[in-house]
Amino acid sequence: MAENQMDKLSALFKRRGFVYPGSDLYGGLANTYDYGPVGTELIRNIKNLWWKYFVQKRDDIVGLDASLISHHKIWEASGHAANFADAFVDCKKCRTRIRADHLLEDWISLNKDTDTANKSYEVLTHEKVSVAFATEKVEGWSLEELGEFIKVFEIPCTKCKENPGTEWTDVRKFNQLFPLQLGIVEGEQGLAYLRGETAQGMFVAFENVINSTRVRLPFGIAQLGKSFRNEITLGNSVFRTIEFEQGEIEYFFDPKKSDWELLFNDWKEMMWKFSTEQLGVSSENLRWREHADEERSFYSKRTEDLEYKFPFGFKELWGLAYRTDYDLGQHAKNSGKTLEINDPETNEKVVPHVIEPAVGINRLFLMVLNDAYVEDSSAGSGHVRVVLKLHPRLAPYKVAVFPLLKNKPELIAKAQDVYKMLKESIDGIVVWDDRGNIGKRYLAQDEIGTPFCVTVDFDTLEDDAVTVRDRDTAVQERIGISELAKYLATQLV
Ligand code: ATP
Repeated sequence: MAENQMDKLSALFKRRGFVYPGSDLYGGLANTYDYGPVGTELIRNIKNLWWKYFVQKRDDIVGLDASLISHHKIWEASGHAANFADAFVDCKKCRTRIRADHLLEDWISLNKDTDTANKSYEVLTHEKVSVAFATEKVEGWSLEELGEFIKVFEIPCTKCKENPGTEWTDVRKFNQLFPLQLGIVEGEQGLAYLRGETAQGMFVAFENVINSTRVRLPFGIAQLGKSFRNEITLGNSVFRTIEFEQGEIEYFFDPKKSDWELLFNDWKEMMWKFSTEQLGVSSENLRWREHADEERSFYSKRTEDLEYKFPFGFKELWGLAYRTDYDLGQHAKNSGKTLEINDPETNEKVVPHVIEPAVGINRLFLMVLNDAYVEDSSAGSGHVRVVLKLHPRLAPYKVAVFPLLKNKPELIAKAQDVYKMLKESIDGIVVWDDRGNIGKRYLAQDEIGTPFCVTVDFDTLEDDAVTVRDRDTAVQERIGISELAKYLATQLV
């Protein structure tokens, strides 16, 4: 049922222009996607909302737009060049490459009742295996532990299904950073990386930001932009892609003056509110999950994930981590600079600690669409209406204007006047549609979440009023043209 929902969404994405497979003309390129006209508007609306909420409406957060191509020393200092690696295995029969942790976690979630008591291990322990079955998580496991689990439990390949546990290659590591060779410099000097996360940009620009602005602790630097990871696991549409967009904030504070637990909880509340109040997602589909000690990075004092119930299960949407002063410390050590800020009250130098909320914009996009997707059969007669009940703030198109018939010049002229007037006055896109019959036009607009359709009919020529139809209720109202812009604007906020 839930997997079916993913199929329905994927079909809608292509049919209506939300998302297309990347490089589609040439047979596609795995794990890449192009956003179509409607998807582009939706993702832009999500990004604008995020930026407004976390940057423009606050006094304590400034923005940054760092280069996607970055010095190799940044990623050596951050540890990514050495450690940003996924463990993977290849099925020897069908050659499918799978991330080992995902293979195990998915298998455990489907085989929770497995008897683990009679198994014997060389590197694993019974306790570790029990924890994995209880939490459905194997983060932090060594290559040997992952490999032993696959063998002991004879995990089959998820693609060809028949493979017993012994038909896998050894578990190996694969670095997710994309290296680049810059043309102007030879050898090692020319090595750069496409950024694997936006976060490092904020640490690298820290000194420039404090020297060029009036920020005082506590303050944040926010960034919205593309990141690149050579991901192994495929599927689930735009949930995990090799090129994706992140919205990250590094919130710097003095641990002697600010209580990190209070700040952490404030951030949790803001992330929750943004998802439910700004994006309009149902709180029943959200939950918090705290990282266990083995899963958390050694420098982090607390990490929690805000998870959303996607059609393929609860998955990470937004991470929140208290990263201490680890990142600034690493960059200070590797660059030879002192990355400190002056406390104007005590005149002391402070190396700030940091709390980092990090979200994938494409995951917000998928979440919003999944949450808004409704099949409405209330009209009876077996007819099912697919409606995207998107918050009007997010809707790609705000209003669609129709002439009742397309071959009546006087109707077209009147409808064009209404269309032009709304295009001028409505904040957002107003579209024109005169194809097919009215029913089909409603159907098409419902599927892309257009909150209002305005029809100009023969009565309009007499009474200067139009029919306004509400997407969610399908109720139609007659509104005078002189009132129309104001009426719609109040409904669209
Ligand atoms: P995951 O465990 O799902 O791989 P992560 O813990 O590695 O994610 P972070 O490095 O914390 O992710 O990145 C912050 C956010 O960026 C994630 O919460 C997620 O929303 C998003 N994100 C990470 N990797 C991808 C990806 N390959 N495609 C789309 N979004 C991603």
